[in-house]
Amino acid sequence: MTARIIDGKAIAASLRADVTQRIAALDFRPGLTVVLVGDDPASSVYVRTKDRAANQAGIDVATLRLSADTPEAAVLAEIARLNADPAVDGILVQLPLPPHIRTPAVLEAVDPAKDVDGFHPLNVGRLASGAPFLVPCTPLGIMRMLQAEGVALSGMRALIAGRSAIVGRPLLSLLLAANATVTAAHSRTRDLPAECRRAELLIAAVGRPELVRGDWIHPGAVVIDVGINRLPDGRLVGDVAFAECATVAGAMTPVPGGVGPMTIACLLENTLTAALRRRGL
Ligand code: NAP
Repeated sequence: MTARIIDGKAIAASLRADVTQRIAALDFRPGLTVVLVGDDPASSVYVRTKDRAANQAGIDVATLRLSADTPEAAVLAEIARLNADPAVDGILVQLPLPPHIRTPAVLEAVDPAKDVDGFHPLNVGRLASGAPFLVPCTPLGIMRMLQAEGVALSGMRALIAGRSAIVGRPLLSLLLAANATVTAAHSRTRDLPAECRRAELLIAAVGRPELVRGDWIHPGAVVIDVGINRLPDGRLVGDVAFAECATVAGAMTPVPGGVGPMTIACLLENTLTAALRRRGL
C-alpha cells in the first residue's frame, strides 16, 4: 500500500480563502495583536508568518515587541491595555516567555473572549467539558484537516502520542466530542508500538524525530504527524518515519506541508470567531 498524502497546504489555503471571504463581507476589520517578549529567533519567524497571513486575510494585525528583560508586571499591564482596547479582537502571546515571567499568570491575564490561542483556563475548561469556544490552533487545524479528508471519526480507534496542553490534551477532547474511541499515550506508556498498531487514526505529537516506525502502523491507518524536528544536518522531519510508514498507512500528512499550515489558518479562523462573538454576530 502507498499512502495518500494529505495536502495540508491546500486544505489550509482553502480555509484561509474562506476566512478572507467572510472578513471581506464584514463592515469592520477584525484586530489581532501578537505579543512578543524577547528575541528568540524561532519565535520571531513564527510571528512574522502569522503577521503576513493575518494581513492577507484582511485582519488588522500588530506585533507588540517587548524587550527580553521586561518585568512581568509590565507585560501584564500591556495585556490589560489590550483587553480594554475595543479595536483588539484577538490577543496572542508568543511562547516561550523569558524564564522570569510566569507563563500561567500571563495566559490567565488575557481576556478569554480575545484568547485566540485557546490557552486561558476558562477556554481549556470549556473544551474539556464539551462546550468549546476558542480552541487551540494546532488541534483545531488537525480536526479541520480530518473533516476536509472526510475521515469518519465516529467509533474510530484513535491514538494520540503526546499529552501537552497545546496539542495532545485539547485533541483528546476534540476527538472524544467527535465520538472517536481515544487513547492518550505519553512517555510512560508501556508499549507505544503496540498501542500504535491498534490505531486506525494515529496522531504523533511527541517532538522526537522519526520515532514512529513503519511496523508500528495499522494497515490503512490515517497518520497525522504534528512533529517538527530539525536534524543536525539541517533537514526538517516529523515524529513519523515518513517513507517507511507510507508503505503501510492509508493516508498521511507530510512534514513540512501538513499540520503546520493548518495551525496558521486556524489562528485566522479563531480571530474571526472572536471578532464576531464580541459583537454578538
Ligand atoms: P511537548 O510539550 O514537549 O510534549 C511532548 C509529549 O510527548 C509529552 O506528552 C511527552 O510525554 C510525550 N513524549 C515524549 N517522548 C515520548 C516518547 N518517547 N514516547 C511517547 N511519548 C513521548 O511537545 P508539544 O509542544 O506538544 O509538541 C510536540 C511536537 O509537535 C514538537 O515537535 C513540536 O515542534 C510540534 N508542534 C508542531 C506544531 C505545528 O503547528 N505543526 C504546533 C505545536 C507543536 P510526557 O507528558 O510523559 O512528558
